[in-house]
Amino acid sequence: MDTTHGVKTNVSTNNGMIRPNAFRVVAGPCTVESYDQFAASAKVVKQAGYEYVRGGAFKPRTSPYSFQGLGKEGLEILSEVSNELGLKAVTEVLDPQDIDAVMEHAPILQIGARNMANFSLLKAIGSAISGSPEHGVILKRGFAATVEEWILAAEYITSAGGDNVVLCERGIRTFETSTRFTLDLSAVIVAKRLTDLPVIVDPSHAAGRRDLVVPLSKASVAAEADGLIVESHHEPRDALCDAEQALPSEALMGLRDALRPFANAMGREVV
Ligand code: PEP
Ligand code: MN
Repeated sequence: MDTTHGVKTNVSTNNGMIRPNAFRVVAGPCTVESYDQFAASAKVVKQAGYEYVRGGAFKPRTSPYSFQGLGKEGLEILSEVSNELGLKAVTEVLDPQDIDAVMEHAPILQIGARNMANFSLLKAIGSAISGSPEHGVILKRGFAATVEEWILAAEYITSAGGDNVVLCERGIRTFETSTRFTLDLSAVIVAKRLTDLPVIVDPSHAAGRRDLVVPLSKASVAAEADGLIVESHHEPRDALCDAEQALPSEALMGLRDALRPFANAMGREVV
């Protein structure tokens, strides 16, 4: 691939999720666990001033014995709470047969790391969102995928007509054991040199530890990322999924101030 392009810092999506000179923060719990849990966690996202909330209804768990998410009931809770709070929802799609239901309940469809190379899912999502400008996709990088494979996965979506594709670096598997995965910030910069697609960072799954989420978020701003997707929970210790990496409410409320000097230095405003 040609690597001679300059870094493209002013990329955007035409649904407004990514805007030039803005640094988009998506926050919320790993999983929609119940109405009360999701409403309490989403309320903090709203109070912190963010516009996008995450929450998984279909969960790609490593173990078949782990909680798999509430499925359709989770989607209902997701849209009810996000509509009540005036937030836009981001949620994962695991199976082509659920695409229509997910699109009814959320504008942003997440494709998880474990499905980055599920080409029939990528094509089905690309054609489902074509002609629906308010919908978009966050495509996580597979944890053993090269940047080129990740970008080509995005092109399965765009060549099927899908618009508003945002790449998300979420850590790759290395020999390091002090973090859950290894956040590959160079991939953010490389991807931005190779494509016109926005690139965001998920420091939560990369680190697997809440104490590293804010420092890695600052580093992501400096690495020219266009935003973040972070996990937060109103009672992190009780989270049914990914409890160790969820930011508690106070940390989420402080994230904007923590990022502001870095964002300003990059000519961006945290939104
Ligand atoms: C998630 O966002 O909850 C998730 C499972 O992410 P990933 O696909 O990056 O592991
Ligand atoms: Mn998670």
